[in-house]
Amino acid sequence: MDFTFPEELNLLREMVRDFARNEIAPRIDEMEEKEEIPKDLIDQMAELGFFGIMFPEEYGGSGMGKLGYCIMQEEISRVHASTSVLIGASEGLAGGALFLDGTEEQKKKYLTGIAEGKLIGAYALTEPNAGSDAGSIRTSAVKDGNEWVINGRKIFITNGAIADIVIVYAVTDKTLGPKGGITAFIVETDWKGFSVGKLEDKMGIRATTTAELIFEDLRVPEENVLGQVGIGFKNALNTLDYGRLTLACGCLGAAKEAVDIAYKYAKERQQFGQPIANFQTIQNYLAEMVIDTFAIESMTYRVAWMADQGMDIIREASIVKNFASEVSDRVIDKALQIHGGYGYIKDFPIERMYRDSRINRIFEGTNEIQKYIIYKTLERKGRY
Ligand SMILES: Cc1cc2nc3c(=O)[nH]c(=O)nc-3n(C[C@H](O)[C@H](O)[C@H](O)COP(=O)(O)OP(=O)(O)OC[C@H]3O[C@@H](n4cnc5c(N)ncnc54)[C@H](O)[C@@H]3O)c2cc1C
Repeated sequence: MDFTFPEELNLLREMVRDFARNEIAPRIDEMEEKEEIPKDLIDQMAELGFFGIMFPEEYGGSGMGKLGYCIMQEEISRVHASTSVLIGASEGLAGGALFLDGTEEQKKKYLTGIAEGKLIGAYALTEPNAGSDAGSIRTSAVKDGNEWVINGRKIFITNGAIADIVIVYAVTDKTLGPKGGITAFIVETDWKGFSVGKLEDKMGIRATTTAELIFEDLRVPEENVLGQVGIGFKNALNTLDYGRLTLACGCLGAAKEAVDIAYKYAKERQQFGQPIANFQTIQNYLAEMVIDTFAIESMTYRVAWMADQGMDIIREASIVKNFASEVSDRVIDKALQIHGGYGYIKDFPIERMYRDSRINRIFEGTNEIQKYIIYKTLERKGRY
């Protein structure tokens, strides 16, 4: 066994860390206030290759696999969750869906655009009546000559309002249900029939956009069927496996940061004539936070490694998503407690981190749904 990272990934970590501390951190207040990630920051990250870390060089990526992608997301999440979510929806979800099942032409055209950061992507599965039960989506696509005509509505779509392309999942054969009856389409957002509806006003990750997307007689050429007709639901689920893994890396970054800032605060804050870090209760909190964070770190990088070996990670992606999101909330909650009243005040980053963290137990499949997936794998195998 070898638990060391290759040198090139250590260098990647340093590069992303420097960028996050020097370029992202000073602009967080502005981004949270305006509820957007500025275009010039996106362009800078594109220039550094952040949008294509995991994809092969032939598609405009850096070829650093899931491991590289996880390292990048961990470092960005330490500083600003919204920035990592924007990248995650474009590279991990839209890019991931294209990479899994796109044709060679689609990969050359769209995946390369995403990897180079020239196109921002979004992944549109959720609908008003189809959240956890994603197989019950109603958005429809009907064949008309060489085109498909899409009608319907998606909600809660990350990057929805800023995306250049959206992977849209629609019903193409009602009689078949999710297995065979759903198809994914690559939709360019400047096509007639596409519009952005309600923008959500959220508790956290406020610098990301979360939008309703409306499709009214939107005509999609046959060549923009992602892969082939009928494999859409499988594509949606397989894409989420990788999304869940990187979500866990985001949780890891946030948890590490929470440990560091809480420790620093505990050393500085004086009560009863001494730093609060001298009190054993505070030391225990910090020790528990370190234990939890180490557990996330151990799990997530093992699963990232498995993914890069081409191993099946259905169960493991759900395990890390569930565990890391529960644990990072717990770690951040303790970090806030260590800050006392100041932790509740917006001047301190832990206040934002607390709000940003909460979504991780909900999106990319709620934690209840992850447990369902984990149980199903147990049932299938009949043993651990
Ligand atoms: C900020 C944000 C960004 C998002 N980004 C995207 C995106 O980019 N693309 C996209 O497609 N979607 C996105 N989503 C949607 C997200 O994935 C869904 O909100 C999530 O899957 C849950 O669906 P729901 O909200 O309809 O909840 P519901 O499915 O209605 O669930 C409500 C509650 O019931 C529980 N529940 C439901 N079914 C079961 C069951 N069988 N067993 C046990 N418990 C159950 C759930 O766990 C939850 O606690 C985003 C959501 C948010 C809030």
